[in-house]
Amino acid sequence: MAYLDTDVRYCKGIGEKKAQLLNKLGVFTVHDLVSFFPRKYEDRSQFKPIALTCDGETACIRAIVADSPRLMRIRRGMELVKFRVVDESGAVDITYFNQPYVKDNIHKGQCLNFYGKIIGVGAKRTMANPVYETENAACGVTGRIVPVYRLTTGLSQKLMMSAVRQALDACGDELPEVLPESVRVKYQLAQTGYAYENIHFPVDFEGLELARRRLIFEELFLLACALGKVKGAHRRDDGIKLKPCDFTEFWSALPFKPTGAQMRAVSDAIRDMQSGTAMNRLVQGDVGSGKTLVAAALIWYAWKNGLNSAFMAPTEILAQQHYENLCNMLGGFGINVGLLTGAMTANQKREIKSALKDGTIDLIIGTHALFSDDVEYNKLGLVVTDEQHRFGVNQRSSLISKGDKPHVLVMSATPIPRTLALIIYGDLDISVIDELPPGRQKVDTFAVNEGYRVRLNGFIRKLVSEGRQVFVVCPMIEENEELPEGIKSAQEHAAQLQSYFPDLKVACVHGKQKAKEKNAVMADFVAGNIDILVSTTVIEVGVDVPNAALMIIENADRFGLSQLHQLRGRVGRGKHKSYCVLVSDTDNEVSEARLKIMTQTNDGFKISEEDLRLRGPGDFFGSRQHGLPAMHVADLCTDMNVLQTAQSAAQELLASDPELVKPEHEYLKNAVERLFELNADTMN
Ligand code: ADP
Ligand code: MG
Repeated sequence: MAYLDTDVRYCKGIGEKKAQLLNKLGVFTVHDLVSFFPRKYEDRSQFKPIALTCDGETACIRAIVADSPRLMRIRRGMELVKFRVVDESGAVDITYFNQPYVKDNIHKGQCLNFYGKIIGVGAKRTMANPVYETENAACGVTGRIVPVYRLTTGLSQKLMMSAVRQALDACGDELPEVLPESVRVKYQLAQTGYAYENIHFPVDFEGLELARRRLIFEELFLLACALGKVKGAHRRDDGIKLKPCDFTEFWSALPFKPTGAQMRAVSDAIRDMQSGTAMNRLVQGDVGSGKTLVAAALIWYAWKNGLNSAFMAPTEILAQQHYENLCNMLGGFGINVGLLTGAMTANQKREIKSALKDGTIDLIIGTHALFSDDVEYNKLGLVVTDEQHRFGVNQRSSLISKGDKPHVLVMSATPIPRTLALIIYGDLDISVIDELPPGRQKVDTFAVNEGYRVRLNGFIRKLVSEGRQVFVVCPMIEENEELPEGIKSAQEHAAQLQSYFPDLKVACVHGKQKAKEKNAVMADFVAGNIDILVSTTVIEVGVDVPNAALMIIENADRFGLSQLHQLRGRVGRGKHKSYCVLVSDTDNEVSEARLKIMTQTNDGFKISEEDLRLRGPGDFFGSRQHGLPAMHVADLCTDMNVLQTAQSAAQELLASDPELVKPEHEYLKNAVERLFELNADTMN
């Protein structure tokens, strides 16, 4: 492996400066370099007879230089090398601007390959500054499928190509075959050397396809093995075995009847908790599907068994809200509920921590503060995280490690297509809540443009005068990012609304405020003291304000569909008829189509599937929020079928060798470990 680990700066023709540029692209070692796959390819494999080229076509031709190149100075600072080339079918006049050296490199009678744009027809064909090379150039850029790499200023395609070429030549035989022979043969996958060669310099399109298929498989297989190992590691944990108990007391204390889906999720979990193995379950359900109740039932069950629970929320506001809800639901049974957040004073924290330690608190709700080093638990039997992709697997485990193999329930409101959930949550069992509580009103959704502004303001006025409250959400602007033309900043927009409605109470929550300030404004809104709350997406996660009946989203095209769906879920939570208005001046067809989906359905799963279809998973998931490593070749959307095959192959392999200790799995084991190392933040 020695050569593969070499720093790229020591590669021939690279050096310190170019190495720094490559580092910018995430390329540090020779291994990184050969794994830096092309972004796309140009098909320069066919030489076209000159007579068959069309005006404006980018083509590859092979022709003989018909006259000696002439150097002309057409005006000051402008030099021109000109000559004519011919093949059996026709002629092209070739010119190079400001490259006087071309005159000395090209000679009459030479046969050369050219690649460039043809302008003109018949005898008047010309090509300006085409790529040229001799027939048998070492790192050919004509007469073949040519890779196109992602670049950064200071790097050229040519440099990338020759660097990769040299790296491949030098390490070709050293590339480890991470796929076990049995898997490679069974799924008819190309060998590693062939794959790396052909993903960069394909012999033909078939070779490229074989290479791609193998590399996609490899990538997804590694991922599946890695996640499978995590799952296996959790699986073997013994868990506290809970005694059965009669839930009638719990259900009858509720103000409503649980839905069938809620019941199913609860009984899945009860089965886990009675099994003697630690529960590790994801409850996935759309916004408003009533996930909190599932958690409450299990917390109650743990309490009945003399066990305490911890409930972790992603934000202070949510922790506060869960605290209030769960106090209401569980306090009546005599369950002692506590709250622990970063915003509390040192004194308050100290008190809570000691109550936790001595077991006075039966259920603690909080933010990340729950797994600080100095927090100790007493008989921690159940850990619930309401995470919506915000906690990494490792954060979850640091809380889990506070108890003696507690049961774990993860709740997520981000609907993702099942096949993806399978791999993203590879370490969890899944219950889906696919049914909303009865009587839930559909939130009427409209997509409008600026022309609707006056009417929209009228609508705000009407609802507020009926006593309702209004959410207005503006896109989040990155710090230092200049406000693009036509984009509303939350603060400015709030000021505008305030001057339009001088008698109403308008407030704003945005990213630059301190947590304390944000919480104060939110609390004011929840208490009904604010009519219109303008914010960036901080309110995205589960805040409950039943009196809010209108959600306005400005520049709606800047949001992901799943995000829009989450935001819309903030209204329609009470008894009032609710509305969502998506304001956008986009004339982009895909954006329009996406907004239209929002107006047509309230089903989060349908929306996420459509979104995935329209945009592809890269955008869909945003900046790696899913906690999966970035994919080099695989596309989690279009390569779904490979994903399934790779996953079953991984399961099969892990069943026979869970720790990958067999000698034939040595390289695979290394690669899986490398994947963990590179993604320590999300996967451990
Ligand atoms: P989410 O899944 O988004 O976390 P919540 O647990 O916050 O949803 O529940 C949303 C609302 O629905 C809450 O106000 C809750 O009291 C109510 N709710 C939950 N389950 C039911 C049910 N079975 N019948 C009626 N209302 C319910
Ligand atoms: Mg919730």
